[in-house]
Amino acid sequence: MLNNSKENLNNSLLFKKYNIDVFNIKFVSQADFSIELSEKSTILEKLLEAHELALANVKAGNITGRAFATNVCTKDNYWSLGTNFNNTRNDISSICGERSAILAAYNDALIRFSKSGEDRFSFKIKYLCMAQSVEFEKMTKTAVPCEDCLSWLNTNRCFDDNTTIFSFEKNNDYGVFVRATKLCELLPYKDFVTSNNFDLNKEIVFSESAKEIVYNQNISKDDIYNLLLKTHSAYLKNNLAGISNQNIACSILTEKDIYTSNKVDWTRRWHCEPLEICSYKAINAENSMHIKAICYFGDEFAQNGEIKYHDKIVSIKSLGRIRQKHATNNTLLILNFEEKILIITLGEYLPKKFIQGYKI
Ligand SMILES: [Zn+2]
Repeated sequence: MLNNSKENLNNSLLFKKYNIDVFNIKFVSQADFSIELSEKSTILEKLLEAHELALANVKAGNITGRAFATNVCTKDNYWSLGTNFNNTRNDISSICGERSAILAAYNDALIRFSKSGEDRFSFKIKYLCMAQSVEFEKMTKTAVPCEDCLSWLNTNRCFDDNTTIFSFEKNNDYGVFVRATKLCELLPYKDFVTSNNFDLNKEIVFSESAKEIVYNQNISKDDIYNLLLKTHSAYLKNNLAGISNQNIACSILTEKDIYTSNKVDWTRRWHCEPLEICSYKAINAENSMHIKAICYFGDEFAQNGEIKYHDKIVSIKSLGRIRQKHATNNTLLILNFEEKILIITLGEYLPKKFIQGYKI
C-alpha cells in the first residue's frame, strides 16, 4: 500500500513536470498491440525516468554529448535502468543505453536468483522503454536501437517475439506520443538457416524486389555464380575459423570487382567479421564504392543438427556499418540454403533499418 502511494506520487510529479496527460497520450503501433491504462501509466513513468537519466548523463559530461537511457522490464515485472557509457569514442569502450540497461537487469535478476534458493534461472525481457536526452520541445524522431544493440537483441535467450520497445515521438497530428514497436519488427528473418553444402545445380530463388534490382542494375547470372564460387572457395580454405568453430566467408560485388574474405578468429570471442574486411578491401581499392550484392557463406552455430545460437551468419553489426555510406536497401543479399540459393534485398532482410534509414 505504501509502495503504491509512493509510486503514484512519483508518477504524478513526473507527469506534471513534463505536462503528460496519461488518459489522452496516444500509444501508436504497427503491430497488434493493446495496453491497460494502469500499465500505460507505468510505461510513461519509466520513459520519463529514462529521459531524466539521459539528461543527467549529458550534464555529467558524457563525452559524446548525447545520451540515451533505457528502462528494462523483465517478464517477472522487475525494472532496471541504464544509460550510455562512453569512456572513449571507440566502440569497444562504449556501450549504448539499451545494453547498459540489459546488463543492469541481468545483474539484478541474478542477484534475486542467488538469494531465492531456486534451481532454475529464467531471464526474459518484456519491455524496453528507450529515451534520449533531446528536450521534449526539440524532439522529433523516435529512439531505435542501433545495429550493435540489435545484435544483442537478436537472440531467443533473453527476448522473444513479444518483447516491445517504447519510445516518445512527436508529430503534428498527435503532438508527443508513444511509439510501441515489437522487437521482431526490427530484426531479420529468424527462420533462415544457411547451409555449407553447395553445388551449382541448386535452384536460385529471387524475391520480387531482388528480381527487379537484378534487371535494373544489370547484374548477370555470371556475377551471381562468381560471387558464390569465390565465397564457397574462401569458405573451404578458411583455416582461421578453427577457434570459434564458426566458419564464415563473404564476398561483395561493387561496380568494378568482387572482394572476398573469411571470418578471422583471434580467440573464441574476438574475430574480424568478413563483410567488414571485404568492404575495407573495396574502399582501399576504389575510394568511393557502392556495394551491389553481398554473398554470405557458412554454417550456423549448431550442435547435433540443432541450432544452438541464433546470432546467424549475417552480421547485423556489419550491416549497420556499411549502410552508413556503402550499401542501400536495394543491395542484394545472396544466401546458400540446403535446398536453394535465396536472393533478397537488404531492405527485406533488415527492413526498418534499411528502408526507413534510421541513423545512429
Ligand atoms: Zn546501440
